[in-house]
Amino acid sequence: MTLLDLLITRIRQDGPMTIATYMAECLLHPTLGYYSTRDPLGAQGDFVTAPEISQMFGEVIGLSLAQCWLDQGRPNRFALTELGPGRGTLMADILRATQGVPGFLDAAQIVLVEASPALQRLQAKALEDYEPLWIDSVGQAPDLPLFLVANEFFDALPIRQFQRQGDGWREKLIGIEGQKLAFGLGARTAQPALVPRLADTRDGDLVEQCAAGILTVTEIARHLSQHGGAALIIDYGDWHSLGDTFQALERHQPVNPLESPGQADLTAHVDFEPLALSAHAAGCEHSRLTPQGVFLERLGITRRAQVLAASLSGDPLTALIQAHRRLTHPEEMGNLFKVLGLYPRNAAPPPGLEP
Ligand code: SAH
Repeated sequence: MTLLDLLITRIRQDGPMTIATYMAECLLHPTLGYYSTRDPLGAQGDFVTAPEISQMFGEVIGLSLAQCWLDQGRPNRFALTELGPGRGTLMADILRATQGVPGFLDAAQIVLVEASPALQRLQAKALEDYEPLWIDSVGQAPDLPLFLVANEFFDALPIRQFQRQGDGWREKLIGIEGQKLAFGLGARTAQPALVPRLADTRDGDLVEQCAAGILTVTEIARHLSQHGGAALIIDYGDWHSLGDTFQALERHQPVNPLESPGQADLTAHVDFEPLALSAHAAGCEHSRLTPQGVFLERLGITRRAQVLAASLSGDPLTALIQAHRRLTHPEEMGNLFKVLGLYPRNAAPPPGLEP
């Protein structure tokens, strides 16, 4: 049975499903889901992420987290945590770059939140010297200070979409037309959580909601306020989003998200405002939302590129210059991607970010 057959059968039984249910099934169905069955990253895959573009990304992030650890008095045991670690490249680069920070690695317990068994295997290989601990959610993290990074994790979390009608909302749902999946609208309802959005939307506007993102950020914030630490959330998106950002990518090309369930990467832009407000409500501070290019420049990525460039020539040198540009330039990833830092009330923001 294909995932499409399974979804059609389920919709025939239960009626139209939310986009969140659809995303969760497509991405993480245990045997037919997108992430459960493959390594989607890299030039041969469907998309390329910052750590796969260059080691410099993980190196400067590692140094930012290590500086937070120093600023918070070098706790002698802490959870160095990553959400959705993909191939394990970012964590491997963080670990290599922080070898020179005395005591940091000895104090670190590597903790990974990863739902895909296929990617867990790749992470185990990339990090075989470090005995990582895999957990299902931040809520299960050990009772230790938490120094955490999440790159392109929140965009994979399931969203729901609502279209405004008068003072109410109609949810965008997935049903069947002929033998195909198709979007439709549910009945008008009140949606208490969307009351604040009545102030900045008009009839027909579409808003997105990511309950899983709110839950994750709330767990992080509670942990930081109790045990200390810091979190860096890096993703494409903006402060206060409006409109449809649900998208599917297959072999680096946009495709219809309902066309081939389980075969394409499904994502939505991250709406950082509700994440920051939820973190604040759960007891911790958040930084100003900062463009990735600005953040990486402040952490010295250009200086790092110059050091690496000194021993390169020809094609490898050209590749390094291109990678630096891709990560930082406003017309590439520099502006689309943003960084949000979370930190305890009494602590300084992570280097590279402002309160
Ligand atoms: N951070 C990596 C990979 C990004 S792809 C990088 O930058 O290269 C998204 C990652 O999040 C994958 O590892 C995917 O399996 C994982 N993931 C997606 N949804 C998840 C969920 N609900 N719980 C745990 N992991 C999830």
